[in-house]
Amino acid sequence: MEDKTDFLIIGSGIAGLSLAVKLAPLGHVTVVTKKSRSDTATNLAQGGVACVFGPDDSFDLHRQDTLFAGDGLSHEDIVDMIVRQGPDRIRELIDLGVPFNRDPEDPERLDLGKEGEHSRRRIVHAEDFTGQAIQKVLGDKVSQLSSVEVLEDHIAVDLITESKIKGHLPDITARDRCLGAYILDVGTGVIHTFLAPITVLATGGAGKVYLYTSNPDVATGAGIAMAYRAGARVANLEFVQFHPTCLYHLEAKNFLISEALRGEGARLLDSEFRPFMEKYDPERKELAGRDIVARAIDTELKNSGKECVYLDISHRPADFIQRRFPNIYRTCLQYGIDITSEPIPVVPAAHYMCGGVVTNRYGETDLEGLFAVGETACTGLHGANRLASNSLLEGLVMAHQVSLRARETFPELRSRGSIHVPPWDIGGAVDMKEAILISHNWDVIRRLMWNYVGIVRSTKRLGLARERLLPILNEIQRHYWDYKLTRDFIELRNLAQVAELIVMAASQRKESRGGHFTLDYPYKDDWNWRRDTILQKSKTRCE
Ligand SMILES: Cc1cc2nc3c(=O)[nH]c(=O)nc-3n(C[C@H](O)[C@H](O)[C@H](O)COP(=O)(O)OP(=O)(O)OC[C@H]3O[C@@H](n4cnc5c(N)ncnc54)[C@H](O)[C@@H]3O)c2cc1C
Repeated sequence: MEDKTDFLIIGSGIAGLSLAVKLAPLGHVTVVTKKSRSDTATNLAQGGVACVFGPDDSFDLHRQDTLFAGDGLSHEDIVDMIVRQGPDRIRELIDLGVPFNRDPEDPERLDLGKEGEHSRRRIVHAEDFTGQAIQKVLGDKVSQLSSVEVLEDHIAVDLITESKIKGHLPDITARDRCLGAYILDVGTGVIHTFLAPITVLATGGAGKVYLYTSNPDVATGAGIAMAYRAGARVANLEFVQFHPTCLYHLEAKNFLISEALRGEGARLLDSEFRPFMEKYDPERKELAGRDIVARAIDTELKNSGKECVYLDISHRPADFIQRRFPNIYRTCLQYGIDITSEPIPVVPAAHYMCGGVVTNRYGETDLEGLFAVGETACTGLHGANRLASNSLLEGLVMAHQVSLRARETFPELRSRGSIHVPPWDIGGAVDMKEAILISHNWDVIRRLMWNYVGIVRSTKRLGLARERLLPILNEIQRHYWDYKLTRDFIELRNLAQVAELIVMAASQRKESRGGHFTLDYPYKDDWNWRRDTILQKSKTRCE
């Protein structure tokens, strides 16, 4: 079945929906999303959006903090652009109705939270369910726009490119073009051919590649895998950010304990309830970068053989905790933990993919007509590690940037002659009767990645991971055309692909940097030296 649209957006998080709102006046926008529209990482975001609003803050300070976190690999021009656009994009959200908290002393001002590695209070938030508030307002807005349709339970299988359809490009130097995507309607099992002058990957992260993750089930790296298969560059995939503090409880699935707790004074305690961060970062302690805190916890757990460490905010007044962190307070209470009077058991978990599909400052990828935005993209903002709360900001700003370029290129791309695209051919594919084939491989990949390609890596472990992934990749490849595609099978294929890419990227990096730490190439220098060098480098470039 062939469907035509002007703009095909794959994904309904902050990136996909805020872009849909901006493209709506230009033509027909189709948003496909593989579950319900609010099954997104966006919906889970607690802390907020980093943005310069404070009287003691400046774009330069936000820029510097982002560059420090990025450990020398962030692109300064992109950092600068994203930081500077922040306030305008936040005002747009306020105009749409997002109920960001106001400063209790001065309601004209926004209430600003503090998080690790931020030198100022700059986290704009809606209590501690900021993402949910944004997701709801964007979802409601999109429902009111007649030119936007959202197709739930539709999962993208692969991108359609000119070279694949024609079997070749006009010449070796020609740029390939994206023509749309094959999309499986999960309800009917039919794979549709969606054609669009402009296709946008807004598929979020890849946390489900790891056994322990804060990410929702939808985060299976689809955009990265599809773009890679279509021939677009992907980069920085070794830089997986591990969040130091996910709730450790047998019944809790992926519940994050926001960084904002440490921003408000929460201490990390070992199994004997002794603070330990001073050993690892005497200056910043709990407010050190996420990679440092996650590694410190990993070391404590490996040394003690215990299952978890503890995060304690109970020294703050109970009414403050309940007011500032209602979501975390209520959720922990549901599991029998009263955070106003006792410490919270926590473990680190895969949280954010700093790398992704390489884009320029307008979200354009290597393929004409193909954009990437949000967590799936690698714009150069995060470098080797993401500064907390910079990702919602990036999603918003880059969606705006994509809309600007789409506005320019859409008429020309639309006017190109159409190419006949054959429908998806299921050939002799049969129903897969044994779901165990998928769930077993899924489980193997996630354990392998956690144990061998996790917070602390080594050349040997990476080699073993690659060896063990190869037979799984071959098996998936062998069976790909034998069975009718299902959501689980599509996800497994993407997950395996992204796992392999992470291992390849990690193996190539012969140093420890940002979110990538390997025992074979430990950090050569201490934090203060690295920070001064990054600052010096950035100053020299700006002069
Ligand atoms: C628990 C948690 C807390 C966080 N807190 C913060 C925070 O406080 N501040 C901050 O800045 N960042 C935070 N982050 C990170 C931030 O939420 C994400 O990086 C951001 O929301 C990503 O937005 P996105 O639009 O790129 O992707 P998402 O919001 O994840 O949306 C991805 C969309 O793509 C769809 N999709 C995926 N694959 C396919 C496919 N093949 N076909 C069709 N649809 C597909 C999904 O169904 C989903 O709709 C947090 C993340 C988590 C998990």
